[in-house]
Amino acid sequence: MTAYDPDNIFAKILKGEIPCHKLYEDEDTLAFLDIMPRTEGHALVITKEPAMDLFGVSQEGLGKLMTVVQSLAPKIKKAVGAEGVLIQQFNGAVAGQTVFHLHVHIVPRKEGVPLRPEGAAMADPEGLKATAEKIRAVLGE
Ligand code: AMP
Repeated sequence: MTAYDPDNIFAKILKGEIPCHKLYEDEDTLAFLDIMPRTEGHALVITKEPAMDLFGVSQEGLGKLMTVVQSLAPKIKKAVGAEGVLIQQFNGAVAGQTVFHLHVHIVPRKEGVPLRPEGAAMADPEGLKATAEKIRAVLGE
């Protein structure tokens, strides 16, 4: 993958062509639940600026993205009752990137609860809906 594909799956989510369990949106970013969550509350924050990865985004866009990650992660952690949060970001297929639109993973961690393997299983839509509601309730506090 050498150039940004305007029809990648996250671009389609941004255009409203594919649904998502939205948690937060502003002028520059969108946050939603990962459909193959590694733990309950696993969320993705993406830029609206089209960029394949960390190295294709403007400094300003990156700053806005990370500011949202910093603000959302503790709230997601609280909503699902986790004790810690893993923040993860992949650049390039060889590094594990599968969707070539810049995104940051927010993965809440609980003592004794292992990470599910990456891409292991699609979550039950009702479960995702309930988790999204829990998180949005904390975001609205
Ligand atoms: P990666 O590119 O490896 O950092 O991860 C891409 C992530 O996007 C994976 O964790 C997928 O489960 C997730 N994903 C793929 N398609 C969707 C979708 N339609 N909605 C939400 N998450 C998705």
